[in-house]
Parts: sequence; structure tokens; C-alpha cells
Amino acid sequence: MTETDAVIVGAGPAGLFQAFQLGLLEINAHIVDALPYPGGQCIELYPDKPIYDIPGLPVCTGRELVDRLLQQVRPFSPTFHLGQQVSLLQRQEDGRFLIETNTGTRFLAKTVFIAAGVGAFVARALKLEGIERFEGSQLFYRAGDAQAFAGRDVIVLGGEDEAVEAAVGLAQLSDNRPRSVTLLHRRDVFQAEAQRVDDMRALVAAGALRLVIGQPTGFEVAGDRLAALQVATPEGSTVSLPADALRVCYGLSPKLGPVADWNLALERKQLVVDTEQFQTSEPGIFAIGDINTYPGKKKLILCAFHECVLAAFGAATVVFPGKAVPLQYTTTSTRLHALLGVR
Ligand SMILES: Cc1cc2nc3c(=O)[nH]c(=O)nc-3n(C[C@H](O)[C@H](O)[C@H](O)COP(=O)(O)OP(=O)(O)OC[C@H]3O[C@@H](n4cnc5c(N)ncnc54)[C@H](O)[C@@H]3O)c2cc1C
Repeated sequence: MTETDAVIVGAGPAGLFQAFQLGLLEINAHIVDALPYPGGQCIELYPDKPIYDIPGLPVCTGRELVDRLLQQVRPFSPTFHLGQQVSLLQRQEDGRFLIETNTGTRFLAKTVFIAAGVGAFVARALKLEGIERFEGSQLFYRAGDAQAFAGRDVIVLGGEDEAVEAAVGLAQLSDNRPRSVTLLHRRDVFQAEAQRVDDMRALVAAGALRLVIGQPTGFEVAGDRLAALQVATPEGSTVSLPADALRVCYGLSPKLGPVADWNLALERKQLVVDTEQFQTSEPGIFAIGDINTYPGKKKLILCAFHECVLAAFGAATVVFPGKAVPLQYTTTSTRLHALLGVR
């Protein structure tokens, strides 16, 4: 159990800048995100697209903005807990909050900042009843250790970049080679980089990769192990593809998920906050960025940044009760310079 001043749920631009603002007020933070990397929508949805409305930065890509936010928060070294979804948020008798993730990480925090955006980005599941019991042993949603596929009949499912890249990568392995690699997609059209599709087709032509067009409809087991995938073909027949490992690349989709279960006031799936501290209906729990709503709310990164400042000052009254927290300028405050390591 980690005891901390603050836990930030979400490492998008709002969560990252929140950690910076908390740092200026000497409030330590842990940041949790369901994605295996920070950046939220900027990284997941538009890493290479330009943003033109960040004050003082005439143009930067989603990735550049995230890199800059990470660089800015570095002096405060927030601890990142990535690839974990916050599932539980509960007030304890002593007034602090118990926060738990789906991988078992637990925190006791004085304050919580929900920066969950449009929800946790989680992998779109392969919808075959009962298949979930193989997750982690024979069913994989994330790129991982090639060892997991060594010597196995692997089926890669999907038709976008991630799927084509995964199939090509597995078919080209020189060590820990799978016994066979099959790319399964519902049609013979791929939304992936042209070069990658060419590489895939070359491997198919060379017999190193099998391409099957069809939809998975069921699976077969041998003992307690997954043994094959049943696939409906466009011709109307069903074929059985031997499979002892599945790599599903159906992309990610945001899920509001547990945020909706924390007994906080919601309006159209958004957390209702005041505009003085961006506090939710539960004192000590703040919400910033796309996840919150208030009169006039605009889902813009700039607006999220403003919300982070006021939420940090709001949290200071909880973390340092009775202590005056004056506003100081980063330009002139020697205390802030010391905190930022720029003395
Ligand atoms: C294509 C596109 C272009 C855009 N262009 C602009 C622009 O030019 N200018 C602008 O200002 N805005 C733009 N936006 C909007 C901007 O990206 C969002 O306003 C911003 O990302 C919101 O930041 P956030 O941190 O609130 O949420 P997000 O960026 O959505 O990040 C939230 C994070 O929280 C995580 N999370 C959620 N729930 C949990 C949980 N329970 N446990 C763990 N983690 C969780 C998610 O995985 C995610 O990483 C654009 C958006 C899109 C889609």
C-alpha cells in the first residue's frame, strides 16, 4: 500500500500538467494510466497531427506536446503506474481515499485527481464466449515477449497497422520462431502503411505467413487448452485454424468504466465540478480535462491546464490544512526555483 498526497487517474495532458502544478505546491503525486505510455488522446489518437492552439507554441504535434509536458514535470518525479486501470476509489474512515488498480496496486491518498478524459483506453476484445479464460496464457492483446509465441501456431487478428506489423514481425523472427503465423482479417483490405502491407504480401507469397480472410465464430479446445479457431469464410463455409496462441489487434477504445461507479455526481457521463477548485461532488476528489463538466466547459487542452492550477490550490487546503498557500511566480520565486532545480 503506497501512502501519498495525491493520485492522478489518467496520464493525458491534463494528468501530466496536474502533476506539475501539484509539484509547485510541494504535493507529491502518483499517476496511473490504463495505457502502457503517457499522453492520453494526444498519443493514442493523433501523435503526428499538428496542434495549433497551445498558448506560446504556434504548432506542435500530439507527441511533441506530451514530450514537453513530461520534460516539464520531470523535476517533481511523479511515479507512473502504467498499463493499469484504476478500478476502485473509496473513502476511508480517516478521510483518505483507497485507490486500487486492476493489477492490484493500492494507494492511500489524501486527494484524488480524475483526469480520465474520454475514459480508459482498453483493448477491444475478441468477442467469443468463454475465450477470455485464455487471456495471458494463449490470448494476448498487447505486444509482449516473443517467447510467448515460440513454437506455437499463432493467429494474429485484425486489419490495421498494429495487426499487419505484428504478423510481419512474428513471421520474420529468427529466434523464438512460432511454428506458424496466420493473419486473419474479415476482408482483404488493410488499413495499414502501404510498405507494411507490401511486406506482409511478400511474406505470404514466400510461404512464411498465411493470410486468411474470414470472421472468427468459435474456438476448439483440447483438454483445457485452446486448440483451434473456427472461422466463417466469405464463401459461406467454416474452417478450423489450428491455434495455440492468439494475438488480437482490434485497436483500443475508451471506456468510462469504473469512473461511473464511484458515486460522484455525473451529467451526461461527465463529472460535475465547481469552477473554483474543479472539485467533484466528493470533497478531496477533483476532476480536470475532458472528463469534467461545468457551465461553459470546452474540451480543450488549454482549458484543462487552467483547471489543473485551480485544482492544485484546492488540494493544498486538504494536504496542508490551516496553512496559507500563496501564489508565487516561477519567474521570481526562489522557493519555486529550488523546487524546479533551476537555482
Ligand atoms: C483528433 C483529435 C484532435 C484534437 N486536437 C486538439 C487541438 O488541436 N487542441 C486542443 O486543445 N484539443 C484537441 N483535442 C482534444 C484533446 O486531445 C483533449 O481535450 C485532451 O486530450 C484531454 O486531455 P485529458 O488529459 O483530459 O484526457 P485524455 O487525453 O483522454 O487522457 C485520459 C487518460 O486517462 C486514462 N484513463 C481513463 N480512465 C482511467 C482509469 N480508470 N484508470 C487508468 N487510466 C484511465 C486513459 O487511458 C487516458 O490515457 C483533439 C482531440 C482529438 C481526438
